[in-house]
Amino acid sequence: MLNRREFLRLGAGLALAGALPARAAGRAGHVVVIGGGVGGATAAKYLKLTNPALRVTVIEANRTYIRGYGSSEVITGHVAMDDLNVSYDALKSRYGIEFVFDTVVGFDPDKKQVRTAGRQTLAYDKLIVSPGISLQYSAIPGYSATAAETRAPSGWIPGPQTALLASQLKSMRQGGTFVLIAPPKPYRCPPGPYERAALVTEWMRRHNPGGKVIILDPKDDFVTDASMQLGWHRLYGYNIPQDFMNGMPADVRNSGKPSPIEWIRGKDGGSTKKIDVRSLLVTTAQGVIKADVLNVIPPMKAGKLAFDMGLTDASGWCPIERRTFESSKHRDVFVIGDASIADVMPKSGYSANNQAKITAFAVANLLAGRAPDEPKWQNVCYALAGSDYGLFVADVFQLKNNKIVQVSGHRYASLDATPAQIRLGAVYQQAWLKTFTEDCFA
Ligand SMILES: Cc1cc2nc3c(=O)[nH]c(=O)nc-3n(C[C@H](O)[C@H](O)[C@H](O)COP(=O)(O)OP(=O)(O)OC[C@H]3O[C@@H](n4cnc5c(N)ncnc54)[C@H](O)[C@@H]3O)c2cc1C
Repeated sequence: MLNRREFLRLGAGLALAGALPARAAGRAGHVVVIGGGVGGATAAKYLKLTNPALRVTVIEANRTYIRGYGSSEVITGHVAMDDLNVSYDALKSRYGIEFVFDTVVGFDPDKKQVRTAGRQTLAYDKLIVSPGISLQYSAIPGYSATAAETRAPSGWIPGPQTALLASQLKSMRQGGTFVLIAPPKPYRCPPGPYERAALVTEWMRRHNPGGKVIILDPKDDFVTDASMQLGWHRLYGYNIPQDFMNGMPADVRNSGKPSPIEWIRGKDGGSTKKIDVRSLLVTTAQGVIKADVLNVIPPMKAGKLAFDMGLTDASGWCPIERRTFESSKHRDVFVIGDASIADVMPKSGYSANNQAKITAFAVANLLAGRAPDEPKWQNVCYALAGSDYGLFVADVFQLKNNKIVQVSGHRYASLDATPAQIRLGAVYQQAWLKTFTEDCFA
């Protein structure tokens, strides 16, 4: 593991490797994209669609992408781990995007070069970085990366921890308790922890009746909170807190009976003080809770690469010039996706994809000597309260006083939605998973 100085020093030696300056060679320009996740893959594709004469190279650590969106459905057995795998073949063959499967370990912003662990050196005219997030495991006393890999998985970066969580749920004792620790803001996929809790509750009803899901939350609210709680109420008899009753349909009445899903908010003592990983005891402001399966979604920051490249500020995320997402730290470097500070835009796949398109157009314009267009972004997050119960939040964003602001009014699925509209929401969610993956990777 390299510290930042070593990382940049490695970069400083890059000239020796004889990387070619791209535009000097008479081409339309060479754009290097680091990270072939949602943001990076989309940026590469839309650069080529905008100007096929551009040379576009993606540097990605893994040969196959494992998608995070839809990954909670592995935990409940709706899909298998393999179903999360996304191939890069179409991006190579259809658009002529070059791929280097390697890890970036060196960066020289003055010479405009990056270097990989496999000692390849790439010169760029413009560099787009979409490194995703890093999970701050040790921010919770008693928790650690080792604990997440062995005993109390997170699964918020999909992979072996997702599979471990799925197998733990299957072998949980009858009548056991699944505790999900939700993260503080800002975090990847704002409705995601609550959708996961809902899907696990639904799974328990079929496979482990008597089992219970408890969400421990340092926060008092989350995006889609009203429509999600209405879904929990209708499906699982969840008792909606009094302060969320405003605007609920007239037929909604809390039974007061225990529900298989419980959300303990920050103001009700839901924030976690420490975890005893061996006994799966969670100490909260309210008391101690024993988990049979413990899913910890810890605080997040930008991906490690962003720190190594000097792209982050004191917040742990990457400051940008909003119009193009060019880094405030290094010129000709653009940071998109979860790692960027995009104000009110959520850290979602949809946002990463949309930012990638706007930034790809801006970069293509800049390389052609044109000014970037006035940007407008959008985001839609679909979420499930049960496999046939869909809801969403939808937004349009634009620049105001150099900040990204929301311009849409009607954001959420209506609390008065009919059963057919609710079912349709779930159909849209499944259709989105498919078309979205195609838009990013095919
Ligand atoms: C359970 C769950 C459910 C979700 N559901 C939704 C949803 O319904 N809708 C939605 O819009 N979003 C959803 N998301 C969020 C979505 O997956 C992320 O917001 C999105 O993947 C962010 O894209 P990104 O490009 O910023 O990062 P990523 O997609 O994580 O891509 C980062 C890439 O960078 C690569 N990389 C990092 N460092 C290096 C390096 N040094 N060298 C080379 N490569 C490197 C990584 O290998 C990775 O491929 C969900 C996430 C989770 C976990």
